[in-house]
Amino acid sequence: MAPQVTRSSQLLDLAVGQPDPALLPVDQFQNCSVNASRLAYGEQTGDASFRKALASWLSEDYGQPVHADRLLLTNGSSNALDMVCTQFGRPGATVLVEDPSYFIAMDLFRERGMNVVAVPMDDEGINLAALEQAIDQYQPNFFYTVPSFHNPTGVTQPLQRRNDLVALCARTQCPIIADEIYQSLYFTQKPPRPLAMFDDDAPVVSIGSFSKILAPGLRLGWIQGTEAIVSRFGNAALLRSGGGLAPVTSALVEPLLLNGEFEQTLNRLRQIYSERADCLYHSLEAAFGEQIHMVRPDGGFFIWLSFVDGRDVSNYQEAAKQAGVNFLPGQLCSENNGFQSSMRLCFAWYSEPQLQEACNRLASVLA
Ligand code: PMP
Repeated sequence: MAPQVTRSSQLLDLAVGQPDPALLPVDQFQNCSVNASRLAYGEQTGDASFRKALASWLSEDYGQPVHADRLLLTNGSSNALDMVCTQFGRPGATVLVEDPSYFIAMDLFRERGMNVVAVPMDDEGINLAALEQAIDQYQPNFFYTVPSFHNPTGVTQPLQRRNDLVALCARTQCPIIADEIYQSLYFTQKPPRPLAMFDDDAPVVSIGSFSKILAPGLRLGWIQGTEAIVSRFGNAALLRSGGGLAPVTSALVEPLLLNGEFEQTLNRLRQIYSERADCLYHSLEAAFGEQIHMVRPDGGFFIWLSFVDGRDVSNYQEAAKQAGVNFLPGQLCSENNGFQSSMRLCFAWYSEPQLQEACNRLASVLA
């Protein structure tokens, strides 16, 4: 992924899903200090005092207790996914994903020599009958899902679907890797709790990250699972060799968790992103009317827009760039080359006037 801080000011690039640099909490990291214990090799599952602070914050946010010994620190979600591939994957194995899915996760699975098989989803997440059939047919090593404010569709799986999904995973023992990176970035309504908090008999790994809720440059995230799953990750050669991840970064974030500054920052982000989501949604609605279908986002980073006439949006991408706006064609998010009429638009990076302008530019090419 290109470093987006240097992105051209001419092009309004809604293809890239990253936080607005103007909203990064620089002030909160001005007076950072680190003590000697954080400069030593750390505990394999990550610093215990930080995990305790994180567990306590997550318990509040999820409305249900999270135990520190069920958390393991990572260098963000991407690193966690890579560790998942080491623990659960192997070259030649099959991985099931949603159709559409987070395209870089699919790239990562392919880089590890795994076969990616896409299973259809609807407005409530994965289609369970299709998933069960695929589990039967492919005997996959795991199923990768983004249950809350899905990338790219923005869909959130309701409680009943989560119950049924975890029950299916318990019955078949097909591991679920739940990328919950947008879980805490809700606008009005909290999503149901992460999948790792449903049933200890189901092999579920939930992945969290500070990238979207504080700052991606921290490279700080976590894995949540049963103690058995956490110790499986904790005993990986990577951590036996180099010790637990992010000892220094976690030391910088810990006071913010404890003194409430993190919560304040996050509430501000929720407010601003919610306004931006509304702004982009309403601008698109006004510009395209009946030509498109969208679901109004209630969290996360994305609007998934589909043209009802079935046109292939990638045919318009060059012209859109000429007009000064870019989007992510849906097809890139589909293992089956589907979703040609859809595009993913990120509302997080730009201000409301810029989002309106981006919409005008899109309309000049596509409406
Ligand atoms: N998973 C999903 C679904 C994402 O959207 C992203 C960021 N685009 C990532 C993982 C990467 O997150 P991190 O910065 O924590 O590695």
